[in-house]
Amino acid sequence: MKGLILDAVWEPKPDYKVSDWEKATGKAITGNSVWRYPNLEVREKADPQLKPDQILLAVQACGVCGSDMHSYETDADDYILYPGLTKFPSILGHELSGKVVEVGRDVTDLKVGDMVTVEEMIWCGECIPCRNGYPNHCTHLEEIGFTIDGGFAKYLAIGAKFAWKIDGIAEHFGDEQKAYQVAALTEPTTVAYNAMFERAGGFRPGHFVAVYGAGPIGLAAIGLAEAAGAGKIAVFEISAERRELAKKIGADHVYDPAEVTPHEVLMELSRGEGFNFQVEAAGAPHLTVPEMVKSLAINAKMVQIGRAAQNVPMYLETLQVRRAQFFGAQGHSGHETFPNVIRMVASGRLDLSPVITARYGLDDTVAAIAKATERKDGKIMVLPNA
Ligand SMILES: [Zn+2]
Ligand SMILES: [Zn+2]
Repeated sequence: MKGLILDAVWEPKPDYKVSDWEKATGKAITGNSVWRYPNLEVREKADPQLKPDQILLAVQACGVCGSDMHSYETDADDYILYPGLTKFPSILGHELSGKVVEVGRDVTDLKVGDMVTVEEMIWCGECIPCRNGYPNHCTHLEEIGFTIDGGFAKYLAIGAKFAWKIDGIAEHFGDEQKAYQVAALTEPTTVAYNAMFERAGGFRPGHFVAVYGAGPIGLAAIGLAEAAGAGKIAVFEISAERRELAKKIGADHVYDPAEVTPHEVLMELSRGEGFNFQVEAAGAPHLTVPEMVKSLAINAKMVQIGRAAQNVPMYLETLQVRRAQFFGAQGHSGHETFPNVIRMVASGRLDLSPVITARYGLDDTVAAIAKATERKDGKIMVLPNA
């Protein structure tokens, strides 16, 4: 079958200490410190072999993620930019939906023809964090499209327990192709849902919500905030195209942070009371967190979704005076997150379909990722079996 394979050279930076675990597994914990000279190419690879507990999917739609861009873009020394867990060569792509075309002999709850979307995090279910109910912190984690083959391919074999049926979405749209494309947005949406509602415990209807960054995760956060009854949603985003998308999804006020000072805007919009729920989806906390801290309502919550491996100064006195909390979040598995997002989309209360701004065939996946690096699109979809 065909797939978008990322190849790179294992060449740890001189100051990076490779652990014994990394040596034994061939996985880099901090990808951008290890993988050099990436090469992305759509080419033939052997069909996946189905294990007894797996299903085989004909991938119908797979979204381009910021992390795919960061495995394509390099620093001045030709290292990839993506800082996460990685093992190459692998087929990229982790935001997908597909049709079940074969089931392993131990699979009981899915059948050929089922329409599903899947989790990206392949949690083991047996390590201590998994057994304690924290699959997003699995110590034996594999990630599709990062450490094992992903969805920019004709087919994907994946454990049945990671698949969620999307019948409700198909019924809502009455159009299989549209349903698959919208369902492929489930993965990034669950990342925002997990951060906002599982980790940070959500907000009260009527609360004022600020979202920093309106890339695909920020747009999902805006849609979720709207559906959950925010009293006002203010968004800061440098791209004019994305500001327009933010408005379509439910933002009440959008600003270019290069032209305003966010905390001043938020204090004005709230008549001096501050914003109750502040979402970092820009991956620039050194810029956004100081703004959040100056615009907190009493009892405010801040949640970090964007990834940024850096120290950020935070004025803690304000957290005390405003009785505020800061939450870190990663992942999307467990905690009813996938089924709840699917329900919201199936009910029509969460409509992220305007977020999809371009579609490509599998052969043009490299061009799709290059287009994404312009950072003007919402979500770009690759349709491997169209
Ligand atoms: Zn992603
Ligand atoms: Zn585990």
